[in-house]
Amino acid sequence: MLKVTKFGGSSMADAGQYKKVRDILLSDKARQVAIVSAAGKRHSKDHKITDLLYLCHAHTQYGVACDPIFEMITSRYIEIRDELGIQLDLETEFAELKKRLDAKQVSQDEMASRGEYFSAKLMAAFLGFEFVDAADWVFFNIDGTVDTEKSYKAFCEKAKGKCVVTPGFYGVMPDGSIRTFSRGGSDITGSLAAAALDADVYENWTDVSGILMADPRIVENPHPIAEITYEELRELAYAGANVLHEGAIYPVRKKNIPLNIRNTNDPANPGTMIKKQFETEVDPQRIITGIAGKKDFSIVTIFKRGLTNQVGILRRILSVLEKHGVSVEFVPNGMDNVSLAIPTDKLAPHLYAILAEIQQEIAPDNITVHDQISVITAVGHQMKFRPGVSGKIFAALGQAGINIRMINQGPDEVNIIFGVENKDFAEAIRVLYNSFIK
Ligand code: ASP
Repeated sequence: MLKVTKFGGSSMADAGQYKKVRDILLSDKARQVAIVSAAGKRHSKDHKITDLLYLCHAHTQYGVACDPIFEMITSRYIEIRDELGIQLDLETEFAELKKRLDAKQVSQDEMASRGEYFSAKLMAAFLGFEFVDAADWVFFNIDGTVDTEKSYKAFCEKAKGKCVVTPGFYGVMPDGSIRTFSRGGSDITGSLAAAALDADVYENWTDVSGILMADPRIVENPHPIAEITYEELRELAYAGANVLHEGAIYPVRKKNIPLNIRNTNDPANPGTMIKKQFETEVDPQRIITGIAGKKDFSIVTIFKRGLTNQVGILRRILSVLEKHGVSVEFVPNGMDNVSLAIPTDKLAPHLYAILAEIQQEIAPDNITVHDQISVITAVGHQMKFRPGVSGKIFAALGQAGINIRMINQGPDEVNIIFGVENKDFAEAIRVLYNSFIK
């Protein structure tokens, strides 16, 4: 049995958190591999080390001294080391880094990666595990994708059968330079490590006891999700639920490795288990797995008589958007009209050019643009077994006096997507939650 574990920034924030991580790892012999983030916030007004590293780099780029910020970074790590009584010479490495930084020899990615690097060095020394540098096994291709075959092979050689700690968030380019994933990317490193070693489970330890059925800032005390499929999770994340880095799902899903989201501050809680599928029967109580949503969409509606019967007209409309690099998220349509739902910030810079070109391309009868639209998604693969779910959703919203501006349901029936005005966003989520989940 092998469990690959990843600990996020809040689990690495101070010496007390390091001790919790150690207890978690030592309580289960299967937990042999740990991927760690940079130190995160200790309280809401605190700073994330990664943010400070970016800030330091930006200062030097503009020729402004960054010494006080650099000092904040070093002292965080030295404090953890001294509080835990770890024997490790961090001072020399920090001094070398600072020297190279001042000489403008450190790239932005390399600088940002140092948070994870120092976290992993410290944690490895604290646990008595071996330190494996991510620069020795996460290999990027020139286009920024990961060469999984090469990376998996390298990690197997370095970590198989051993107890190791490796930093998240970064790897190495073919020319030897350090490159990071996008923010939150330690989740991806963990997933790659689990896939490389064919782990039995990938545990992602954070500061919440799993994924919640709705945003706790909108719904009071939402239920946690005990089980969810990869497919549902993707839909929820896309719809706005902030859970895992999107890129973390693919490596483990491909190898059919379950992913378990756990809470470092509540290790007895089983958290959320994410799998390809579950054997359990259809639970009549659980039609909807979760609800998420995003605000600030624009809906462009193009009216033209007989539009749906005209061959190629949709392609001509979409090619205008493609030309401007604008991607369309939803395309609900009627007999004589088609609507395009696009995030307003993506559409706004090109709006007038796009409208003029659509006018020229298909000579519509009319075009309207509505802003301030929110898109809400109800996710649940069990919906396809239950007739009348959309009916119930729309009835509940109607009873609450919420006007639905757009409806979109795919034939795979993993989700039902609808648009409401921004002002109704929170209320629509609460109405859905209360009528389906509560
Ligand atoms: N430390 C990085 C960030 O703040 C990566 C991570 O924690 O996953 O984005």
